Amino acid sequence: MNKEYMVRATAANGQIRAFALTGREMVETARVAHNTAPVVTAALGRSLVAAAMMGSMMKGDEDLLTIHIQGTGPMGGLNVTADSKGHVKGYPFQAQVDIPANAQGKLDVGGAIGEGNLVVIKDLGLKDPYVGQTVLQTGEIAEDLTYYFATSEQVPSSVGLGVLVDTDCTVRQAGGFIIQLMPDVTDEVIDQLEASISKVKSVTEMLEEGHTPEDILKELLGKMQLEILDTLPVKFQCDCTEEKVLSAIASIDRKDLQSIIDDGEPIEVRCQFCNKNYKFEVEKLKEIMKG
Ligand SMILES: [Zn+2]
Repeated sequence: MNKEYMVRATAANGQIRAFALTGREMVETARVAHNTAPVVTAALGRSLVAAAMMGSMMKGDEDLLTIHIQGTGPMGGLNVTADSKGHVKGYPFQAQVDIPANAQGKLDVGGAIGEGNLVVIKDLGLKDPYVGQTVLQTGEIAEDLTYYFATSEQVPSSVGLGVLVDTDCTVRQAGGFIIQLMPDVTDEVIDQLEASISKVKSVTEMLEEGHTPEDILKELLGKMQLEILDTLPVKFQCDCTEEKVLSAIASIDRKDLQSIIDDGEPIEVRCQFCNKNYKFEVEKLKEIMKG
C-alpha cells in the first residue's frame, strides 16, 4: 500500500465531511525540485497538502484547483495546483528565505509570507473558472484557508496543516486535515467537534507518533460515527513535457523567435512548477519558425 495518501470520510451521519492526508515524500519532492529553505519548505508543503485535499473535493477528471498566495514578506508568495486525483505541483516565488524563528520557536511561515491575499481558482471546465479571493489572516496558511472557506465558500471548516523539517533540512513529516460542516449540522455536533478539536495535538505531533490519516480522523471524529469513504494516493507530479514547452515557444512573437535564432545559441527553458530544464538547439527553433 502506498504510504502517501489521503482519506475521505464523513461523520455525524453526514453532518460533517472530513479529509486527512500524509505526504512526506510529496513535499520532499517539491523541496528537492526547488531547493527550498526550511521556512519555504513549510509554506509550500502546507499549501501542497491543502491543495491535494481541496482538489479531491472536485468531481471532474479534468478539474484543476490553484492556490495562489501573494504576500509582502521575503518569500513573496507561492502557487500550487492540484487535480482531483491527488496530484499536486507548485513553486514558491522565492526559494531561499532566511528569517528568524517566530515567538514559539517555530519556522516563521507567516513572517516569510507577510501580509497579502489568498486566491483560490477552480477550473471546472466551465466557461469561466471560479475565483475566490480573501485577505491573508496570519500567512500561516491553515488559518488563511479556514477563513477562505468561511467567507468565500460559506462552509465553516477546521483546517490543520503540518510540515516538520528535519535538522538536515529534509522533510521529516507532512500532512494535514480539513473538517467541514454541512448545512444541516446541529449545534450539538458543532459543540462536540469544537471540544474534540481543542483537545487534539498538532498535525506534526500526531504524524511523529506514527498516526495514519485514519488515526488523525479517529482522534478528531472517533466518537462521532466516523465513516471512512475511500483512500486516494497523493504525489507531487508535474505534467510538463518537451512538446508543451515547444508549443509555448511557438506561441511567442515571430520577431522575438527570429532574434533568438539569430543569436545562434541553444535556449534553455525551465518549467516553473517542477524546475525541469528543457534545452533546444537552434535547428529545433528554426523548425518551429517554419511551423
Ligand atoms: Zn514541470
